Amino acid sequence: MEQMGVNVQGKSCDIVIVGAGIAGASIAAELSSRARVLLLERESQPGYHTTGRSAALYSSIYGPPIIRALTRASGHFFNNPDSRFIETGLLRPRGLYFIARKDQSETFEKTQLELGDGVVPVSLSDAQETVPILRAAYVDRVLMEKGCADIEVDLLHQHYLKTFKSQGGDLLTSCEVQDIEKSSDGWRISTNAGIFNAPIVVNAAGAWADDMARLAKVKPIGLVPKRRTALLVSPPADQIIDHWPMMVDIDEQFYMKPDAGKLLLSPADETPSQPCDAQPEDLDVAICVDRIEKAFDLSVRHIDHKWAGLRNFVADKCPVVGFDSEADGFFWLAGQGGYGIQSAPALSRMAAALVMGDPLPRDIQDEGVVAADLSPNRAGLSA
Ligand SMILES: Cc1cc2nc3c(=O)[nH]c(=O)nc-3n(C[C@H](O)[C@H](O)[C@H](O)COP(=O)(O)OP(=O)(O)OC[C@H]3O[C@@H](n4cnc5c(N)ncnc54)[C@H](O)[C@@H]3O)c2cc1C
Repeated sequence: MEQMGVNVQGKSCDIVIVGAGIAGASIAAELSSRARVLLLERESQPGYHTTGRSAALYSSIYGPPIIRALTRASGHFFNNPDSRFIETGLLRPRGLYFIARKDQSETFEKTQLELGDGVVPVSLSDAQETVPILRAAYVDRVLMEKGCADIEVDLLHQHYLKTFKSQGGDLLTSCEVQDIEKSSDGWRISTNAGIFNAPIVVNAAGAWADDMARLAKVKPIGLVPKRRTALLVSPPADQIIDHWPMMVDIDEQFYMKPDAGKLLLSPADETPSQPCDAQPEDLDVAICVDRIEKAFDLSVRHIDHKWAGLRNFVADKCPVVGFDSEADGFFWLAGQGGYGIQSAPALSRMAAALVMGDPLPRDIQDEGVVAADLSPNRAGLSA
């Protein structure tokens, strides 16, 4: 890497990363053993936005093919995290049922064909034995995904933040990036906590990634934040739910999964939104309860907790990773959609290799991932 050692408020810094969600934290950890890195986060808590609001699922058959490849390439780390900051495992086994009504037969068959060996049909009686509240009058067919799991998201995020700090990285929280200007030797980043300079800026600002680009006078990538709602409710008193699989409507119109003794429900909404501190809307909550009560013998009388988060997509629904070809030293790590946790271990290693000008890690190449497919300069980013 060229242009090392630009002064940052008395400290030398090679790379400034904006955003300390899972994207910024993971690439910060990957880069900090080789470069002097500063990580800037507007909130006082780094996981406050999308990272802290996910459904925490690991599924290697979810998302576009490149996400599936990155998720598979992340599997080794998830299963064998070699970190002094992780004492327990990062994954807990969780089954997954795709459920379909009679009128969804076409999607059922298409999904079964597309997912091939990744799924097996389950008889309705077996599915009901596992999940007694599944309504026989509603569900016609069930497919089971093998090998998915719940992710310990906070543990993963903390592992990256602690690794970063232990390697000499600096994290500034409550530090909002307000302007980014090109300077003679890189980028001048103005914040409420001072001005920082570095040859490379990494844009890991989640829903605000296009806003960061506009500040830097870099062409936006057409990112659309999409709101997704989640609720926590109590299960029926007579049910033991820990072993229940996640249950997903075959058209992804709702899902339900056990979560620390409660049931997490979602209408799987994808409402376009401005970047913001997303909040659940009453209508989405009502739609969610209606869909769930139709499919399950569950009467939702009280919602223990509800929230919403933004899943951020470009038109082809694949992440955007790489240097902008028209803005020297401006690196994108954005658009992880609904898959940014399960793909983070591989995506961060890939992104760090691109920042440092290295070839992609061999295991990621072996999964068929090519840098050009995620490039910010690829065709068809905007709708
Ligand atoms: C309901 C829901 C369910 C999901 N379920 C799953 C799942 O099961 N599995 C999965 O893998 N993924 C899931 N996801 C997606 C996953 O959560 C995201 O892909 C991931 O968290 C994105 O991380 P991020 O770091 O890009 O964004 P964020 O966590 O939003 O981080 C971006 C950070 O940038 C900071 N920032 C922005 N602007 C500035 C500024 N000007 N100055 C300083 N800092 C700034 C923000 O404060 C924020 O902390 C889900 C998402 C939602 C909403």
